[in-house]
Amino acid sequence: MANIFLKIIDGTIPCYKIAENDDYLAFLDINPLAEGHTLVIPKNETDYIFDMNDESFKGLFLFAKKVALAIKKVVPCKKIGISVLGLEVPHAHIHLVPINSVYDIDFKREKIKFTPEEFQKIASEISALV
Ligand code: 5GP
Repeated sequence: MANIFLKIIDGTIPCYKIAENDDYLAFLDINPLAEGHTLVIPKNETDYIFDMNDESFKGLFLFAKKVALAIKKVVPCKKIGISVLGLEVPHAHIHLVPINSVYDIDFKREKIKFTPEEFQKIASEISALV
């Protein structure tokens, strides 16, 4: 069965899209730790990020860099933290999380709820700057 991120890539499951090219996609995490918490994924199916070939791996991080710079312009924060877990969804992805302290990127924290309108607004604002 296709993993949930493949369904997001093919549009079967909707997302709040931030940016996309032929190889990578960035979209808001549906259970965010912070406003603007974004996932960046390769379109090729690979579970474990360190199984990616060097070219795709570098490309993923370069794409994530562009997205992170755009998030930082929109969401007030000290830095954009990055984290790779992959314990829930078996498709390689990078979390980009606006942070002011280490607490902000603690995945044990309660997630923040946003309305669809709030998700869409932040996605549009970030997307415009990528
Ligand atoms: P991880 O695999 O890195 O442990 O966590 C997967 C992340 O994907 C979680 O932060 C979770 O909120 C997010 N996620 C899971 N399913 C969906 C989904 O259908 N849409 C979006 N936008 N995010 C999802």
